[in-house]
Amino acid sequence: MADRPITRLSFVEDDIAVLTLDDPDKGVNVLSQHVLDELAARFDELEKRGGLAGLVIRSGKPGSFIAGADLREFAAATDVTHEDVVALCTRGRKLFQRLSQCDFVTVAAIDGLCVGGGAELTLWCDRRLMSDDDKAKYGFPEVKIGLFPGWGGASRTQRIVGLSNAVEMVTAGELIDGREAVEMGLATDAVPAERIEQAAIDLIRDEQRSGAYLRDRERWAGPLDINETELGFLGATASAFIQQQTKGHYPAPLAALEVMLGSAGLDIDAACEMEADGMAGVFGTPISRALINVFFLTDRNKKDTGVEGRDITPAKISSVGVLGAGIMGAGIASANMRRGIRVTMTDASQEALAAGVRGIMEEVSYNKQIKGPDVKRAVEMAPMLNATGAYEEFAGCDVVIEAIVENPQIKTQVYAQLESHLRDDAILASNTSTIPITQLAAELNHPERFCGIHFFNPVRKMPLVEVIRGEQTSDETIATAVAYAKRLGKSPIVVNDGPGFLVNRLLLPYMAEAAELFLDGAPIRHIEKAAKAFGMPMGPITLYDVVGLDTAVYAGKVMYEAFPDRVVPSMLLENLVKAGRLGQKSGAGFFVYKDKNKRGQPDPELDPIVAPLLREPQKFTIEQITTRLFMPMLLEATRVLEEKIVRDARDVDLGLIFGIGFPPFKGGLMAWADSLGAKQIVEQLKPIEVLGERMRPTPMLLEMAASGKKFYDL
Ligand code: NAD
Repeated sequence: MADRPITRLSFVEDDIAVLTLDDPDKGVNVLSQHVLDELAARFDELEKRGGLAGLVIRSGKPGSFIAGADLREFAAATDVTHEDVVALCTRGRKLFQRLSQCDFVTVAAIDGLCVGGGAELTLWCDRRLMSDDDKAKYGFPEVKIGLFPGWGGASRTQRIVGLSNAVEMVTAGELIDGREAVEMGLATDAVPAERIEQAAIDLIRDEQRSGAYLRDRERWAGPLDINETELGFLGATASAFIQQQTKGHYPAPLAALEVMLGSAGLDIDAACEMEADGMAGVFGTPISRALINVFFLTDRNKKDTGVEGRDITPAKISSVGVLGAGIMGAGIASANMRRGIRVTMTDASQEALAAGVRGIMEEVSYNKQIKGPDVKRAVEMAPMLNATGAYEEFAGCDVVIEAIVENPQIKTQVYAQLESHLRDDAILASNTSTIPITQLAAELNHPERFCGIHFFNPVRKMPLVEVIRGEQTSDETIATAVAYAKRLGKSPIVVNDGPGFLVNRLLLPYMAEAAELFLDGAPIRHIEKAAKAFGMPMGPITLYDVVGLDTAVYAGKVMYEAFPDRVVPSMLLENLVKAGRLGQKSGAGFFVYKDKNKRGQPDPELDPIVAPLLREPQKFTIEQITTRLFMPMLLEATRVLEEKIVRDARDVDLGLIFGIGFPPFKGGLMAWADSLGAKQIVEQLKPIEVLGERMRPTPMLLEMAASGKKFYDL
């Protein structure tokens, strides 16, 4: 649709032009090469016309300005050289730079999201105005895709808002709102959206009168006024902070910092050249490609309704029931109340219910600013929670989520007592981590309105929700569950029924292998180190202690019953549980926890418990440990794909990144596998195939190794 114009020029007054960006084929404006061509033609037109006092740049999409450069073009640019990237950066920069050199005042009127390349375009304007709406956000999230601004954004920001503010904006990639932009000196004012265009025109008149913009043009074209000591101090503190945040896995923020410090003393053109050169160093690297993949996974998830090929309007959810006031029940209730959804909650134990209510009120009334409970918030929230002992009170709920003990008999008994009290169109869902949904639905009168809505622990932090489709679950139920999870701010994926669903099915073989490695003589600290060096947020042994060893034993049994050919039953975990070592919650598991808030410490008392199970000790390199940890996860993922538990490799990757913190800089498990190639994976498996079925290449992997296909092509 290249012929439909994306930009249009109008003249609100004889000497004031308005350039509107409004891509007729997209929900948001993005800066593709085609749009840059159009902008160049518009700038030519304006320069030719002459006699202008000013130009206002705005978006034709209310609440959305420019969402950045076109990442599909970035993703498609596979064989570009360093020089190609520099040329690409220089072209965009020189185009936008015209906005700071023309003989009229240029003002960006920003309503809505303005990020990345869009923010760079506005930086080259003389002035920026923002709307005071909550949706108006401004910033440079490029580091989140392994890049940094390359159209002069890094160089120009520091000249406008000072080096310290600029370093923070560019290296952290966080967005600011209109008020913050004004405070920083990035925007002149934040005004109501409906007044922004008139405010821009008034600003042009003011600037013409005062000539202030001309003085700023001159100032911003020169080097920054900062001495070596200040530069050195800023560099040292910023780089220490970045290293602590990125743990060496994300190179872009440090590369951006280097460019910004190195170019501070140069004039703007030389600084921009250095910026383009730096950008070429991070563009197209495996890490940036992996992060762009994650961006697309998230984008696809946002648009996903959960049901393909049918247009279903999900039911509106305004009241939710929660059965069980334990860890998960309380977390789910809080998540609902935070989004303005009323909660009715029950528990078999009065004590547990009271404790749950206390925890929920603490969570929902927490105020970040005062770092504690906020009385006003508590008073507002209290009427949204109804703690009860009577199932009749669930009659008004649109969705009821069961989060009671992981026991199929008790769960089905509760459903039998509850179902007759539910409304005819209400959805009943289980938060079970392992029990097949079809099995739980067996005795229900309405299995079509039953599904799994599996939250992850802690609910407040973990973005993933698995929506599990039982054999009889209807499309309407799935569509409503997916829309509901999104309303809670989560990223739901639809998973077909099966033991462990998606995430636990892949996580458990990895955790089990950590226990096996330990019994084979690998020191716990090496196992932890290998996983963390790979990029996992914590080591698998710590994860056992966090999840709880009793829970792990239970889940392990479910997996063993389902897949006895490859799941190794673990005496080690059972012995720890028998010794009362359940993990963090009991004060000791693999580690001992002397202080509730401190990290676990190695514990000599573990030795006599594990000694009888230890095998002939072997020596392992960190690489060997890594291979043993991640191969069983990957092989299980190929089985999950073959069984169509999820649609494709992208669902696996999104599930693992959002569900267990699989390192985003690897792009996800399957993207990582694709980066290695199936052939190399088969090679890596050869020396460990003796360990049995859990390390043998699956038919799918062998087929891919032979054909050279990638998981992302399937
Ligand atoms: P929990 O032990 O903290 O809480 C369970 C609550 O259910 C208890 O308060 C208990 O009194 C109550 N209960 C037991 N029988 C009941 C009944 N008949 N009627 C009403 N209440 C009853 O457990 P949890 O960790 O919150 O787990 C709950 C569910 O969520 C389980 O199915 C579990 O598999 C699943 N889950 C747990 C996690 C996790 O990390 N803990 C993560 C995802 C899913």
